[in-house]
Amino acid sequence: MPDRFDVIIVGAGPAGSSCAYFLARAGLRVLLLDKAVFPRDKTCGDGLVPRALPILAEMGVLEEVSQHAYRLSHLTVTAPSGRRVGFSIPHLPAAPNYALVIPRLKLDTILMQAAVEAGANFINAAHVRGLHPSADTVTVDYLWNGERISVQSPVVILATGASSALFDQLNYPTPRPHIVAARAYFKDIPDLENHFQFRFDGVVLPGYGWVFPLSPSTANIGAGFIRTGKDTHYSVRTAFERFIDSPAMRKRLTGASRVGDLKSFPIRTDFASSPVAAGRVLMIGEAAGLVNPLTGDGIDFALESGKLAAEHLLHALHQKAAAYPDAQTYDALLRHHYQNLFRFSAHVSRLSLNRFALNALVPVAAARPRLPRALVSLLLGAKPVPDRISPLKLAKGIIANR
Ligand SMILES: Cc1cc2nc3c(=O)[nH]c(=O)nc-3n(C[C@H](O)[C@H](O)[C@H](O)COP(=O)(O)OP(=O)(O)OC[C@H]3O[C@@H](n4cnc5c(N)ncnc54)[C@H](O)[C@@H]3O)c2cc1C
Repeated sequence: MPDRFDVIIVGAGPAGSSCAYFLARAGLRVLLLDKAVFPRDKTCGDGLVPRALPILAEMGVLEEVSQHAYRLSHLTVTAPSGRRVGFSIPHLPAAPNYALVIPRLKLDTILMQAAVEAGANFINAAHVRGLHPSADTVTVDYLWNGERISVQSPVVILATGASSALFDQLNYPTPRPHIVAARAYFKDIPDLENHFQFRFDGVVLPGYGWVFPLSPSTANIGAGFIRTGKDTHYSVRTAFERFIDSPAMRKRLTGASRVGDLKSFPIRTDFASSPVAAGRVLMIGEAAGLVNPLTGDGIDFALESGKLAAEHLLHALHQKAAAYPDAQTYDALLRHHYQNLFRFSAHVSRLSLNRFALNALVPVAAARPRLPRALVSLLLGAKPVPDRISPLKLAKGIIANR
């Protein structure tokens, strides 16, 4: 194995594998490192929103992913009061109007293999411990089989998800995950509805619960809450148990059994206020805080930002840009794509994830289906989010539409 590459990518989740795929396909020498042994699990709801699907198609894996996934075209939202609104997933211009649910154990292996087939060098069980940027290169130190190995490249892509262990070495402010969430798999669920279910009954607020079916009788079920500083008496496990013990969930899970362990993980949603580059190191996916603060989806942004970073590097190489990588242009690129959406989602999250607002909004949404459809279209990227949208403007818009 050589010790110099065109690009080294740390982390082989959806972000790292997407970036590796697009760079390797263009002929670059790519090294993709992950500390886990694949196939590896990642604690997640396993939901792929429609926005995630076009990149899977570009990577040539949509068919394979679909074969292992459960397809849903309807979603429901249940208020703390138990009142529910449901609607079909709106049609987006460039994406299918359905969602998929697929265990990450399977999805991430398919994505990593696509990157390898495109030409990327992949090493698992490679724990990156050191990043040492110099004037024109970054040295990456990793531990593999007890051996310390050093490799170099002019640019490093950090795709390490919510883990912030390497940030200290980059003079990057230590990110604090905003959400903590836990999930478990359940089988033999009687009368499982064929919907993406978001539930706010029985959950710790601000927070959410979900039931994402993986088959007609199995589901990924989870709950999470936003850290506000007032919630120190809750552990994420307590929040999960409280959710599945709520009267509605207990009724739905009668006769069902939990499979495997309950697993929890933090979620970073702070893209709008966090740097996405530190000199020669560029962040993608959750390492750039790219998980929607309202809905908790991040696989779509991981895949997209992996591709955006690859295109940015390929463009700069093609132009023989003097500054390579150009951290400022990269930052501007991601802000252009995501800043308004992330600010908007954070506003809606602050405004709506409380008992009063949810109990009021769900009946409004049920009476005026175009309202939730418009919101979901914005969140899924069908329409650009306007430049400046204040919580007040948003509230006025909702009230005017009652
Ligand atoms: C409970 C929960 C439920 C969720 N539900 C959904 C959902 O239903 N749909 C959705 O779209 N999103 C969901 N998310 C968010 C989603 O899981 C993340 O946004 C997504 O995994 C981010 O992808 P990524 O590639 O950026 O990082 P990850 O998928 O986290 O991959 C990071 C990789 O980096 C590796 N790594 C880390 N540090 C090092 C190191 N030092 N050296 C080498 N390798 C390293 C890790 O082993 C890992 O493989 C959920 C998150 C949680 C916690």
